[in-house]
Amino acid sequence: MGIVVLKFGGSSVATREKLEHVIAHIESEKKKGNEVVVVVSAQGKTTDRLIAEEAEISKEPDKREHDVLVSTGEQVTIAKLAMMLIDRGHKAVSLTGWQIPIITNCEYTNSKIRYIKNETILDYLESGNVVVVAGFQGVAENGDITTLGRGGSDTTAVALAASLKADKCDIYTDVDGVYTSDPRVISEVKKLKSISYDEMLEMASMGAKVLHNRCVEIAKKYEIPLYVKSTFVEHSDGTAVIKENIEDLEISGVTKDDYISRITVIGIKNEIGKTFKLFKVLSDNQINVDVIVQSFGEYTVKDIAFTIKMNDLQKTLKILKEKKTELGYKDITHTENLSKVSIVGAGIANKPGVATKMFEALYESNINMHMISTSEIKISVLVDSNNANSAIREIHRKFFVWDMEISMSLFWHF
Ligand code: ADP
Ligand code: ASP
Ligand code: MG
Repeated sequence: MGIVVLKFGGSSVATREKLEHVIAHIESEKKKGNEVVVVVSAQGKTTDRLIAEEAEISKEPDKREHDVLVSTGEQVTIAKLAMMLIDRGHKAVSLTGWQIPIITNCEYTNSKIRYIKNETILDYLESGNVVVVAGFQGVAENGDITTLGRGGSDTTAVALAASLKADKCDIYTDVDGVYTSDPRVISEVKKLKSISYDEMLEMASMGAKVLHNRCVEIAKKYEIPLYVKSTFVEHSDGTAVIKENIEDLEISGVTKDDYISRITVIGIKNEIGKTFKLFKVLSDNQINVDVIVQSFGEYTVKDIAFTIKMNDLQKTLKILKEKKTELGYKDITHTENLSKVSIVGAGIANKPGVATKMFEALYESNINMHMISTSEIKISVLVDSNNANSAIREIHRKFFVWDMEISMSLFWHF
């Protein structure tokens, strides 16, 4: 008997009927004698709807007000769920991020949790309540409402699990665990029994939105075992996100991340400090740069290409044009609508055949790679967005379907 944190995403809380499933999970934990903290998202596509409404009102929405607006979705869910629990005879209380409070920094739209004051939650648990917490939202030290970035309710749940020293954190969603690729894009996916924190972090950062990447960072730091399960599949054992992966697969997954732009700065002087100055200008303006490729510095000038999120493109071009003389380059070009396709797996760097296999799948599908980047546990390539789904499908087939076909044929021979 201890504290458990259960998190339910937007599709799991979308309707009254779906909330009944949520209540069944809560009751099952209560029956085991556990104290239950539930973190919920906004219902269904509420956050998308709020963002669409905002776009009708303002061309460049003020970020502080954006957070005030989009944080409202979660407040509706906590009240409804708490009411339904009370109607069924449970003691329950809803809490917003600022009532707890969950204190964040003041980076509107993408804030990070600094600390959580957990006394209020502990008091309510002690007096027998199910505590229903609004995910995704917090409060800055100046009192402003903040949000944790899209998908941030996962992070609320894991941060609470760490703060309350919970026995476990179950992330209930609309799929039955973490798969080798997005089951909504690839049909032949395999469910992973387990995945390591490091691999999951890469998968999440490379576009697998099943978990918010920051929640995995926190889980890793505090060694909190996370279980990704389906709200609607009974007795789902899901996927365990843990320290060491117990699966023995060549790679753990194939992911894609869309809406990427590439900027190429042409003819920048090949002198010490020029590259630094270019990226300093970008970081000073809060522009996140991802893949970087620099041409050989054998001549008097060099070219530098880098990728950014597509919604930072206009701002980045404007800044670079303003700083043209200071940075001393000849020209800039840009490409839009690119996607980053990645394979993730522990020890990829020590398996030389893995990169070849990925590139072969792209070659066989006639897909051009614009940039490549590698790390200890991932290889990413940049492709045109209209090729991204075929790219992940063909790469996935290369690594997994062949194995599945072999095991099926063995099965039939027996
Ligand atoms: P929730 O609303 O419960 O937070 P999300 O929509 O954020 O759910 O995340 C679940 C979705 O993540 C799934 O519906 C699935 O399409 C997507 N997804 C992407 N990559 C993967 C993957 N490798 N394994 C499982 N789901 C994935
Ligand atoms: N409601 C927020 C979103 O849609 C947070 C979440 O669902 O985790 O991004
Ligand atoms: Mg989510």
